Amino acid sequence: MGGTKIAAGVITPQGEALSRVRYPTSSSPEILLSTLVRAINEVREGFEVGGVCLSVPGFVSERENRVVYSPNLHAVEGIPLKEVLEPRIGLPLTVENDANAAAWGELRFGLGREVEHLVMVTLGTGIGGGVISHGILLRGAQGAAGELGHVTVLPDGPRCACGNRGCLEVMASGTSIGRRAREVAARYPGSALAELAMEREIVGEDVSRLAAAGDEGALAVLAETGRWLGMGLASFVNVFNPEVVAIGGGAVDAGEPLLGPAREEVRLRARPPSRDLVVVKGATLGPESGMFGAAALARDPKTGRYILDEA
Ligand SMILES: [Zn+2]
Repeated sequence: MGGTKIAAGVITPQGEALSRVRYPTSSSPEILLSTLVRAINEVREGFEVGGVCLSVPGFVSERENRVVYSPNLHAVEGIPLKEVLEPRIGLPLTVENDANAAAWGELRFGLGREVEHLVMVTLGTGIGGGVISHGILLRGAQGAAGELGHVTVLPDGPRCACGNRGCLEVMASGTSIGRRAREVAARYPGSALAELAMEREIVGEDVSRLAAAGDEGALAVLAETGRWLGMGLASFVNVFNPEVVAIGGGAVDAGEPLLGPAREEVRLRARPPSRDLVVVKGATLGPESGMFGAAALARDPKTGRYILDEA
């Protein structure tokens, strides 16, 4: 479940998606719940499914299987998802933070298959984070660890959805790319970006598309965003000493024009030996790492073990 889309899939223990569906997210809790039920029931049709894991943006209380706080998807806050959804889908349900799920997806099926230390950063409506150290997902005392999007990178910067100012999320998310595009367009009056800005509101996808066609305005937006992203990543590299930093979420479609400047910032700011070991790259599962990771985190309520590991 994301700020704009819901994606559901049936995933095998080998990481193959047998079926997929997509629906838009709703800001109404009732519609959101019925869309979830519909997506799950539709996608499982004809397959033998052992359980479901819902990957949601925000802080998930591990004990209660409930989203306590979700700045980019308020509709889901406070709903006892397990109690509400299980009777409507007839399957055991686990709830997990989306970026933790994405990190697990990359470790289990993507970039991390040969590593044990991985930091995942997802760039979408917000910025999510997941940290895997020694092959274990870092959860912290309350299950709230890894909120990498809410480290401060600019003390008096723009207001973040969390209420703070200058979080990495507000400087480098997919949403920030759209906002920055409007500012940068004024500096490149002859660019395709500036022309589009006069017609309508620019979103992150427009910038990726224009940058791929070589537009200098769009490339400048991605370079600036990449530098902010890299400032955050450099700190994560210093703190966690990961082998891989995987960048996922929709905004990673922008590719090298975004990741190149981020890598350069990591090279300038992170310390050796961590800096020399780490590889920063786009998630191999792209925006779907959360869906694959969620599947791998679905638990058997009887044994407490991951269903795909048992299969
Ligand atoms: Zn924040």
